[in-house]
Amino acid sequence: MNKLHIISNRLPFQVNKLENTYSLVESVGGLATGMKSVYKKLGGYWIGWSGIAHETISADESNTIDDLLKKEFCLSVPLSSDEINLYYEGFSNNTIWPLFHYFTQHATYKHDDWDAYVRVNQKFADYALSVCNDDDTIWIHDYQLLLVPGMIKKANPNISIGYFLHIPFPSYEVFRLLPWRKELLEGILGADLIGFHTYDYERHFFSCVRRLLGFDVNMNQINIGSRIVVADAFPMGIDYNKFEAKAQEIIAKPDLEKTDFSKELERFIEQFPERKLILSIDRLDYSKGIPNRLKSFERFLAKYPEVVGKVTFVMLAVPSREQIEHYQQLKREVDELVGSINAKYREINYSPIWYFYRSMPFDQLVELYVKSEIALITPVRDGMNLVAKEYVASKINKKGVIIISEMAGASKEMCEALIINPNNEEEIADTLFQAMNMTDEEQIQRMSQLQLRLKRYDLFKWASEFIKGLDKVAGIQRVFNTKSISQNIFSAIKTHYAQANKRVLFLDYDGTLVGFKSNPVLTKPDESLLNILRTLAADKRNEIVIISGRDKNTLNLWFNENNIHLIAEHGIWHRRIDSDWTMSVALDNAWMLKIKPLLEHFVDITPATFIEEKSYSLVWHYRNAEQEYSERRAIELKDELKHLIGNQNIEIMDGDKVIEIKVGGVNKGIAAAAFLSEFPAEFILAIGDDWTDEFMFKELPDTTHSIKVGIKQTFAKYKLDSVEKVREFLSALH
Ligand code: UDP
Repeated sequence: MNKLHIISNRLPFQVNKLENTYSLVESVGGLATGMKSVYKKLGGYWIGWSGIAHETISADESNTIDDLLKKEFCLSVPLSSDEINLYYEGFSNNTIWPLFHYFTQHATYKHDDWDAYVRVNQKFADYALSVCNDDDTIWIHDYQLLLVPGMIKKANPNISIGYFLHIPFPSYEVFRLLPWRKELLEGILGADLIGFHTYDYERHFFSCVRRLLGFDVNMNQINIGSRIVVADAFPMGIDYNKFEAKAQEIIAKPDLEKTDFSKELERFIEQFPERKLILSIDRLDYSKGIPNRLKSFERFLAKYPEVVGKVTFVMLAVPSREQIEHYQQLKREVDELVGSINAKYREINYSPIWYFYRSMPFDQLVELYVKSEIALITPVRDGMNLVAKEYVASKINKKGVIIISEMAGASKEMCEALIINPNNEEEIADTLFQAMNMTDEEQIQRMSQLQLRLKRYDLFKWASEFIKGLDKVAGIQRVFNTKSISQNIFSAIKTHYAQANKRVLFLDYDGTLVGFKSNPVLTKPDESLLNILRTLAADKRNEIVIISGRDKNTLNLWFNENNIHLIAEHGIWHRRIDSDWTMSVALDNAWMLKIKPLLEHFVDITPATFIEEKSYSLVWHYRNAEQEYSERRAIELKDELKHLIGNQNIEIMDGDKVIEIKVGGVNKGIAAAAFLSEFPAEFILAIGDDWTDEFMFKELPDTTHSIKVGIKQTFAKYKLDSVEKVREFLSALH
């Protein structure tokens, strides 16, 4: 890898101004910490916004700030207040954020916001392109920059691009609501590796790609035609050692050195040693589930009156996006709930909720983590939730219980935590009671497991795993690219062709010589194809073989000029020039009676699918059916077929949007080899597009010029992108 550049909405520094002097303060967020460890080491830039609207400072001030940032290898993208308003507050925070967190009722769809989003994303892309070389890598972060991967890839396809989404990716049913859904997907697919926090987000993304763009997804690889794109889950970790070390320092600190906050907390704990602290920390955001948390806490007090006076809920809510209406409403709701619960359960020296509406410095946060017996984390939707992980890392003595919503990405890695549904107040109340009464032994046992995992897969591991993933994708793509037919390779094949006196050309039909159509009957050869074939067949040195899965009657109808050899039904039938159709092996098709009713059942339950009957095989076609649904049905069908077939000599062939069931022991490879024994050749060419052609690529002699159409993995030596390219190749060969 050459240089690694990072792009995110904000740079990892805060610009401060004191008496006309500017200085930089490092940001402490997870992304800033994690990325700092890699981008400088790999000699790249961090590209992002400085946090200052450019029209609010003079040109001189702007240069001063840019110079300061450049010393830290940061490039600032200048944004105006207007752009921030429309691109950031508007499209990012009022459209994508609510929608991706399933708050569809809060999402707005404004054209001006979208236009600004496109413009600003282009600005980020242009800045990146201005510093990036062909063999560099760029890692783009988060939902503000969904279009940037596509914009960079379009301008320079050689740059390797990673993209990581730090928030959830919603299900197709929600994502499809976006008017600009295709543009956003295409933007993300400009990346070579796409990272999500969890497998669920990844699978929602695949579902959208399949349904909205129609691309094939194979395991975690997306075939977008010109490239393979890989998506994977990389759960983001925390700087574990930093929290662990700070917690140790807090515990070991002599009284004299303690902060006022620390002393106040300790006084409280000493005064009420029986009282347990429940902690929650989050930005005041509707996705964090704060009202439902408060209602559940109230239910807990009501249902278990014995805990009143024995538990204090410390709730830290950090102000966020205060200018947006929904956030103001939420603030009012939270204030009222806290007020009413405290009024109802207040006693002398007891207030059940301590509510802080502010942010706290790192030391105080860790102090809270260390001193609280229970962490109560109840988002209704959260990409990851780092607070949960920070709480675990700060528990030096391993005592403490973590209650976490199943809607937080972090819950997927925290099966030893108490996992709740954030909308189930009764369950949360009961779980709080369970946590209050959990033995030390059980707490230690659960916490130890959690710590082991989070310490191992920390922030630095996350970053390095992603970068390793990018390298791996480059490897996969290299394999595909090296198979391209360059001018030199083509010249060598053409010379070989010209020098040979005996040549055999095996040509698959559908997907190779003609494109796919919704109805296979419509793919009859056009004049231009027939001309190419006629020209080739007219040369006495050539034996042209159409080798197809099609039935013999169709091939007979289409290629009746009798100067072309035909192999039909994947090798079951062949018709040599000047001969009749001959069956390659003696076959029995009694099995069809058993299989056909099952296929008919699948046609009934899967609209727009149909059965094709060939003399020795049955085919279920699902190209025209709704993609995702029919692919699921195809898996079910294969499963049922396997049971039905048992150990009979019958093969299930998984083609391109077809499942074909045919007798075993016959395939295109065997048929092609048999042809060659009759017609030995000095020059052999084999072209095909699907996996039934792979038999041919494997079986034919090593000297064969084998060519795969498309970019799927193959045994063929070379590849051509499309049917058009195959036709060009054949025309140019002769
Ligand atoms: N945090 C902070 N000061 C505070 C409260 C929280 O620095 O007063 C940090 C906290 O340590 C955590 C981050 O803010 O690293 C919140 O991350 P999380 O994933 O929990 O939520 P987000 O705000 O990213 O949705």
